[in-house]
Amino acid sequence: MGKKGGGDKKGKKVRKKQAKPRKGEHYKIEGGKAQKTKMECPKCGAGVFMAEHKDRQHCGRCGYTKWKK
Ligand SMILES: [Zn+2]
Repeated sequence: MGKKGGGDKKGKKVRKKQAKPRKGEHYKIEGGKAQKTKMECPKCGAGVFMAEHKDRQHCGRCGYTKWKK
């Protein structure tokens, strides 16, 4: 009885090409509301802008401080 060897199918290793989406591409939004709007001091009036801080807005002219909620 002869044993027939064969039929050994070796699966080919197929490398999958992973298409990664590009990240980190910075873009500017123009025409939208991406612009920072400065707050005017309610005490000093128009023209006097308040300094933007992390948690508050401060007027360097009269010292008015508006805390952010
Ligand atoms: Zn002020």
